[in-house]
Order: sequence, then C-alpha cells, then structure tokens
Amino acid sequence: TAAMIERRDALLGPAYRLMYEHPLHIVRGEGAWLIDADGRRHLDVYNNVASLGHCHPAITEAICTQVRKLATNTRYLHDTILELAERLLATVPGTELAHLMLTCSGSEANDLAYRIAQTRTGGVGMIVTDTAYHGFTDAVSKFSPSLGENVDLGAHVRVVPAPRQYHAEGADVADTFTRDVEAAIADLKRHGIQPAALIVDTMFTSDGILPGPVGLLKGAVEAIKRAGGLFIADEVQPGFGRTGEHMWGFQRHGVQPDIVTMGKPMGNGQPVAGLLATADVLGRFGENSRYFNTFAGNTVSCAAALAVIDTIERDQLIQHAAGVGKVLRDGIAALASRHEAIGDVRGVGMFVGVELVSDRALRTPDRALTTRVVNHMRDQGILLSACAKGHNVLKVRPPLVLTAEEAQLVISALDDALSAAQRT
Ligand code: PMP
Repeated sequence: TAAMIERRDALLGPAYRLMYEHPLHIVRGEGAWLIDADGRRHLDVYNNVASLGHCHPAITEAICTQVRKLATNTRYLHDTILELAERLLATVPGTELAHLMLTCSGSEANDLAYRIAQTRTGGVGMIVTDTAYHGFTDAVSKFSPSLGENVDLGAHVRVVPAPRQYHAEGADVADTFTRDVEAAIADLKRHGIQPAALIVDTMFTSDGILPGPVGLLKGAVEAIKRAGGLFIADEVQPGFGRTGEHMWGFQRHGVQPDIVTMGKPMGNGQPVAGLLATADVLGRFGENSRYFNTFAGNTVSCAAALAVIDTIERDQLIQHAAGVGKVLRDGIAALASRHEAIGDVRGVGMFVGVELVSDRALRTPDRALTTRVVNHMRDQGILLSACAKGHNVLKVRPPLVLTAEEAQLVISALDDALSAAQRT
C-alpha cells in the first residue's frame, strides 16, 4: 500500500485526499460490500453513490445494453432523455417543477442553478448554512463553507447557522432558522445586494445530518421568496429515497422549491446529475442562453438513471430504507446507555448521524474520539466517516439495500469501536 500511495501522490499531485489512517485498496464491489486487493470484505455504510448497492445487476445491464446501441449527446432526438424527464417529473407531484436539465456532477447542477437564479432574479446574493457543501466549481465553492478557511466565500454570500436543534434548548428550531435567514436577507439588502437564492441541502448533511423537525424550512423559504429570491433544494445527498419517506428530502418539509438539484445516486455510479426547475424560473434563462453539455444527458447516463428509478420503485427501496434505517438508528441509539460519548443519534431512513461528545450535558464535540472511531471501524471492516462543524458526527449512510443483518454488524462494530477508542 505504501508504494501505491507514493506513486499516487507523485502522479496525481497534492490536492487529492485518501480516507482512513490505513487507506483502502479496493478492487470490486457487490451489494453493500467492497472487496480489497487481499480479498477482505468491507461493509460500505458510507458510499451513497452506489445507493442501490455496488454494481447492481439491473443498472449494469441497462448501461451495457445502451452502450452497445448508442452513446451520444442531447443534440439528437432520443427517447431515453424524454423518458427520464417524465419519470423524474412524476416524482414531484404538487409542485410547479416542469423541466429537467442534465449535468455530469452535482457541482455542475448547482453551478447551473446559480446561473439560472441570477438570470431570473437579477440578483447575485446567496444564503447557505455554515458547514454546507454544494460543489467544487469557482462559483459554487464560494458558497460552500465546508471547504474551509482556505477557500474564500464571496462578498455576495451570507452564512446562517444550520438548525442544530440540540443546541437550541427551548428555542423553536424552525423559527430560529427563519429569523436567521431573514437577517441574512436584510444584511444582503443593506449592502445593496439583491438575493438570488437560499440553497439548502435538505438533510443538512455536511452540517451534521439534521432531518427535522418536519416543516423546518417553511418560514425560511417564504422569506427568500418574499425577498425576490429563489429556493434551491440541493438533493444531491438526500435524493432518490435515502430519507425512507419520499423520493426527495424537501418533501418532508412541505415546501415548494424553484429548483431541485440532484446527482450522486442518480446513476448508481454512472456520472449523471441535473436539476428540475419551474417554467417560470427557466423562462428568461432559456431566452438568453443556449445550453449544451457534451456528456450530460448522454443516452447511456439516461439509461442508467432510468434503471435506478425503476429499481427504487420495483424493489420498494424507500420503504425498505425506512424499515432497516430504523433498525440501524434504534440499535445505535441503544448504545448510548453504555457509551457516555454518544451525545445524540438522529436521522431518517438510511441516513444516521451519531454525535460524539466529551461532555454529554454541554455537547462538547469530541473530534479526536470521532477520528479514532472512524479508523477503528475501518480496521474492523465497516466503512463510514464524519461530518459537521466540529467533525464529531459519524455519518452513517448505507446503500438503500442494506439488510437488517448488515445493520446489526454496524451496531456491534460501533459498540466495540467506542469501547476501544475510549481506551486509547
Ligand atoms: N451538493 C451536495 C449536498 C453534495 O454533498 C455534493 C458532493 N458531496 C455536491 C453538491 C457536489 O456534487 P459532485 O461531487 O457530484 O460535484
């Protein structure tokens, strides 16, 4: 492994990062499992790209069938992209979302969403939560505070605290979040900046996985629309059924997005991403701009995305995510009686956040312990990672197909890891 790391550093340069103290060299994937070069199996409860399981046969088959027939771009008439648009728009009943635009990555989807928002509103101001990640492009990195202090946020960006219910003792979380967004809008206006959009990862993934309370986003969305801005729901993480409730995270909050961006699990590994937008929002952008993105919306990516939607529906994976997700969440929550370091366990569906603290009453983040637990789990063959401002929330994000038996493996490994990490 050491020689491979050296070779990789030499070839790829210094900007790439590997996960874990002992990086993994994987060669194969199947279901929720990754197999390393020594043939050892690792349970992947972190990778939400292969959300239907690694190398899902139905997706592989759809990709192979299409790639044998035709792989080309959106400048020709082709059924796959139209079918995909119809299927995706059918997942958002009761909204005004009317059109699909495709990209190759979530970053590109958010970049495009920002351009559309600027054209529609005439504004440039962006409001984001304080540890959010929305992508790597120049424009999007300027409203992705989780990239850290070395990446400057734009002068047109205002950051609001993520709704951390566990810190807001007695306070109404939704009201507090609404007030914070209203204050950010007022501050933009005071500086002569018209807001373009409020963008929210509807599960607040990088902020520490904050699913609730239900309806949390309502007041903030009303506030941004009153101010002439748009609401962009970033569904790159929560989308495609991960919450075990709906296809999309925004649906649990009963809000109307102007734009919904998506990616990661959309092709179960095939790079396909995009956005849904209302006709009103896209109107002016369409008049003024031509959109072409060489690889985006290619026939093979569309076939993969169609197979993903088919599989979620056919195998009832949203319901499955709810059931096994609850087993996982309840099992982890039960560990709190034995492990003082567990400050909070929260989540919905196949999305669980486990907050680790050095003082339960004060909720003091324990970053060092979290890092030890992540590495200990990896050494035991369970792959996960951490998120949140204090880097102290274990991010447990298994494929939707995880079984109850596999969930038990995660729970008992976490029990061991917490004991071992506290001893060291
Ligand atoms: N939005 C969110 C919420 C994300 O988590 C990510 C990726 N981690 C992105 C956007 C960017 O997606 P991509 O890496 O496909 O560019």
